[in-house]
Amino acid sequence: MFQWFRPNLHVGSVIDLTPERLQKYELRSLLLDVDCTLKNYRSQTISPEVSRWIETMKEKGIGLCLVSNGRGERIRRFAENVQIPFVAPAMKPLPFGCQTAIRTMKFDKKSTAMVGDQVFADVLAGKLAGLFTILVVPIQPEEEPWFAKMKRPFERIVLQPGL
Ligand SMILES: [Mg+2]
Repeated sequence: MFQWFRPNLHVGSVIDLTPERLQKYELRSLLLDVDCTLKNYRSQTISPEVSRWIETMKEKGIGLCLVSNGRGERIRRFAENVQIPFVAPAMKPLPFGCQTAIRTMKFDKKSTAMVGDQVFADVLAGKLAGLFTILVVPIQPEEEPWFAKMKRPFERIVLQPGL
């Protein structure tokens, strides 16, 4: 049953997702989690590195859509800052947010990945929606709210190789 929680790819940061690497996996669009994936939980802004990465993705024609469990208004402001369409609140691990994003953005499911930092939200939602899944190491997880922190030890368990 752990295969529902195992990402297809595990990287340190979204920055590691270079156009070449995406091409290798035949990925042309990304659904992006926001908190701890693009920025730390408390911040409204992103690092210059992530900002540059977003610009590169756009220049290379990679489709982007934010899919966040965050409150609509907070995510709307963030989406406006980074100029990326969004679906929020997405209610991950339910797959409906991912499905809505794919439908409205006219992405091809076969070449779309869900990218996020949480196994029990992002990876599971992506898998349930039938997508390629990419797990990133969370940005500053110590600033997360308690309900997100609580899940981290369980993530380590299901990610253990050999289980
Ligand atoms: Mg997150």
